[in-house]
Amino acid sequence: MKRCSIVCSFTLALLTSVSAWPFWRRDVLDNAVDSPDGVIAHLQHFGEMLYRNPDNETGAVVANWHENWDRNPEELGNYAEGDILFPPQLEKNGLKAEAARWPGGVVPYMISPYFNTEQKNLIYEAMNDYHKYTCVKFKPYTGEENDYIRITAGNSGCWSSVGRVGGRQDVNLQVPGCLTKKGTVIHELMHAIGFLHEQSRFERDEYVTIQWYNILNNHVGNFEKASKETTDAFGVGYDYGSVMHYSANAFSKNGRPTIMPKEFGDLLTISFIGEIFQGVTKVQLGQREGFSKRDIQKVRKMYKCNKRRRSSY
Ligand SMILES: [Zn+2]
Repeated sequence: MKRCSIVCSFTLALLTSVSAWPFWRRDVLDNAVDSPDGVIAHLQHFGEMLYRNPDNETGAVVANWHENWDRNPEELGNYAEGDILFPPQLEKNGLKAEAARWPGGVVPYMISPYFNTEQKNLIYEAMNDYHKYTCVKFKPYTGEENDYIRITAGNSGCWSSVGRVGGRQDVNLQVPGCLTKKGTVIHELMHAIGFLHEQSRFERDEYVTIQWYNILNNHVGNFEKASKETTDAFGVGYDYGSVMHYSANAFSKNGRPTIMPKEFGDLLTISFIGEIFQGVTKVQLGQREGFSKRDIQKVRKMYKCNKRRRSSY
């Protein structure tokens, strides 16, 4: 009897959620926002900045970026939090209404012919990691789908909007800067499927200290955290190793850290797919090698990936 009631409740919940689609999931987001107002609630302090046009000023800075810099190319933009930009034609009220996850985790895409083979391959490698570790599926745009991403190579930095916006939405990867590391591609695609930055989490102050006095004056707003009411990290703990975490020196005006991890320890382990660092004495923020274990967990939870799917995690 008890078993039946559990099954029945589950079925009912399933039916309710399916029939409510897509409204039930019109909440996208996180790192971790999971309420209808989540995205806009977290980003609204940026105002018009969310809808401005991609700019070449950012492009010029990214063009000078080098792998040895102490920050990532997506942390150099004049955009919200450095790399978040919604299509200008999108009505402000539309964002709240339209921002959503991709139905079934399927993301139709097209890639600019401007990229060379090597650059395209890096994009495919990033997509393959999604296919390998999660149930999110990038699939070539056929011309039939209403909603899709277009991966562009404009000289305006690395940027994406957050979540499915509706219609065509661009993910820009300036070459070569934004295509130096696979993790940068994974990062921008993670925005596109609905995630914000890790250090924006409402409880981040328990894990990192923001060094406000080291932040570039006009970029202080990039360090606002999301509110507790509108976020949900899907039960996955704070992750210094997230591909969505800023570098320690992001938006620094003086070369000193803007984000200091609170945990230091010889036994701390930061792991990400393919490599495991052990025994590091200093927490490394802003890695862009690839997904962390917790990134994968969050993507899977957001998209309710079938647990039977084969994966090493
Ligand atoms: Zn970002």
